[in-house]
Amino acid sequence: MTDKKVRVRFAPSPTGPLHIGGVRTALYNYLFAKHCGGDFLLRIEDTDQNRYVPGAEEYIIKSLLWCGLVPDEGPDGLGGNYGPYRQSERKAMYKEYADTLVSNGWAYYAFDTPEELDALRKEAEAQGKAFIYNASTRAALNNSLNMTPEALKAKLDQGGHYVIRFKIPAEGDITVHDMIRGDVHFHLSELDDKVLYKSDGMPTYHLANIVDDHTMEITHVIRGEEWLASMPLHVLLYRAFGWTAPQFAHLPLILKPSGKGKLSKRDGDQGGFPVFPLEWHAPTGEVFSGYREKGYLKDAFINMLALLGWNDSTEQEIYTMDELIAAFNLEKVGKSGARFDPEKTKWFNQQYVKALSDDDFFAFVSPVLASNGITTDAHAKEVCALVKERCTFPEDIMEHAGYFFIASTEYDAVALKKRWKEGSSAHLLVMADIINEKFAQGKEVMHDAVIGYANEQGLSLGLIMNALRIALVGTAKGPDIFDIVQMLGKDETVARVKRAVEVVKI
Ligand code: GLU
Repeated sequence: MTDKKVRVRFAPSPTGPLHIGGVRTALYNYLFAKHCGGDFLLRIEDTDQNRYVPGAEEYIIKSLLWCGLVPDEGPDGLGGNYGPYRQSERKAMYKEYADTLVSNGWAYYAFDTPEELDALRKEAEAQGKAFIYNASTRAALNNSLNMTPEALKAKLDQGGHYVIRFKIPAEGDITVHDMIRGDVHFHLSELDDKVLYKSDGMPTYHLANIVDDHTMEITHVIRGEEWLASMPLHVLLYRAFGWTAPQFAHLPLILKPSGKGKLSKRDGDQGGFPVFPLEWHAPTGEVFSGYREKGYLKDAFINMLALLGWNDSTEQEIYTMDELIAAFNLEKVGKSGARFDPEKTKWFNQQYVKALSDDDFFAFVSPVLASNGITTDAHAKEVCALVKERCTFPEDIMEHAGYFFIASTEYDAVALKKRWKEGSSAHLLVMADIINEKFAQGKEVMHDAVIGYANEQGLSLGLIMNALRIALVGTAKGPDIFDIVQMLGKDETVARVKRAVEVVKI
């Protein structure tokens, strides 16, 4: 067992786009597999045809690829020797497994109609109870446990609707082991005889999931906390088949920024942050925003998700994918819900944007420049490099560098009031002349000459240099003023000072 190659799977149902909780599950599977030198599989669990959403499967695969979580095995071109990797294409094999359980006494046929079961549910509810199809009720219901073999055969020969249910043992407790939560106990009497197979030829999630995990030689099942309640059934299914169960790890929920309740797909656009990796165009026509389209770098997104529920007990926050693979282990995954923090998510992006090379940063912002009519030439690249550290998203480039390309025609009134005093204009015109004269001698010389003039005149540097900044930028913001001057060039600098002086008129 110990020397068996680690194989994990991400097994989404194509019932909609992958939300960040799903991406995190995929990521933890990926990190665990790669840490152990194992395989990461993608299996599409599409047995529930009623919930199938067109486009969801393509979306899931595109999202994983964008995140760099490339499956070693999976549907279509992804390869692997354990296929098919789409459950609808494995349909033919499940009946045989369901039959095995019927013949070894772990499952039985049931013929109760949906209406009959509904009536039983309502009846129980009226008495303040929940209806459970199990040892407490099955003896009085319409199933093969209460029929002679002949009667069962006759019923099946009629060809009507049936299901095959798992037979949960009548009494006792079951203890299952979770790698994150430790031992978890369940009372068997509280479990349902879940449906495994339906006469329409489709297995349910529970049967298909166990059969596939076994036949695909999955060693560790890493999935969301919502599946913890299914774990005793799954462990019993392994026992019923006589198979060794994989190890299980149930990941904590991702909580809303308020910390109250599970993060849902509606929270995102309401709270002004995406909950989907890529923009999702729902079949209803609704569009949900995506991290990619919002200008998040995939490495920042992955780094943020990795730390949403896991840390390696150090203060480190920035990890490359290789560092994550090296450091990741399931024992350090938290047991309680991880609160999603939109501000921290932006912070991660900023850290990664800051670390981009000038070329990559320019590629990151170029579409925004182009859409604002700015020529994306070598000069534009130099300008962008100057404000790289101030940008979190591509569109921030206009706020931080737009003025280099398009001169402000308006000046920030608050900044003006604070920094531009009577007499400032005359001094600024002199400073513009100095800049014009010294520009060719370089930044240092120009700096010393301008500051020298200001000191000589007894001017407050805080006031006059900010007034110069307002003249060039439009506000009292931006990088080093002499860097700005150098980027603008002397003619443009002088022109901007003159224009500002005319407009401000004091
Ligand atoms: N198809 C299930 C889902 O959509 C997978 C659960 C599991 O990993 O066992 O979440």
